[in-house]
Amino acid sequence: MDAAKRFDVLFDTEQALREGRLSGAQAEAVSAAAFTDPGAQQSLLASATVNGLRGLKQDCARVSAAACVDEMAVYERVRRARSIRHWQDPDGTGRIEVRGPIDQTARVMAALEPYERAIFEENRRTGNHARPEQTAFDALVRRCVIAGCHVTRQLEIDHNVPLCDGGTTGYENIHRVCGFHPREKHPTSARLVGEPGQMRLRPNERPPP
Ligand SMILES: [Zn+2]
Repeated sequence: MDAAKRFDVLFDTEQALREGRLSGAQAEAVSAAAFTDPGAQQSLLASATVNGLRGLKQDCARVSAAACVDEMAVYERVRRARSIRHWQDPDGTGRIEVRGPIDQTARVMAALEPYERAIFEENRRTGNHARPEQTAFDALVRRCVIAGCHVTRQLEIDHNVPLCDGGTTGYENIHRVCGFHPREKHPTSARLVGEPGQMRLRPNERPPP
């Protein structure tokens, strides 16, 4: 985080700098450390008035190190409380609550993104106005596009016309299929035809060489 942003939350440090009670180097050291632990701002400002820059920097290093330990402890507490809970509301709504460290839940959400994009494009094409949270749900419970296939797990994105055969990465060329169907599709260069959910494999009719 740059100094200007830190100063937004560290008003007293900024004021001391403006009034000339802190040098630029002191203000930079205080703001960096106090940003990791805003509660330490006053004691660091006090340190700046009695210690030289080197003493101040030592105090700042101590504050930052302690804040880092705190942060790791918080992360570990969140990680230990990780869970997925699944229950049913009286009206029949199924509910899932996922809890865990933010970097890990963010990874799950990021993994949904290609599927959300594909569904969004499908919806746009068919004039289906789903809200983003509905699209995200559909991405989570996605199923294989092949007619009669109800597989919902470990789906892959299939480029109907392979990229090496000149296929595009556009929505019209990508479909979600289960791990079983590519094995059936690729050796015969078959193509998917029909509407998603009702697609069938048709042998590729290559023009004669
Ligand atoms: Zn399938």
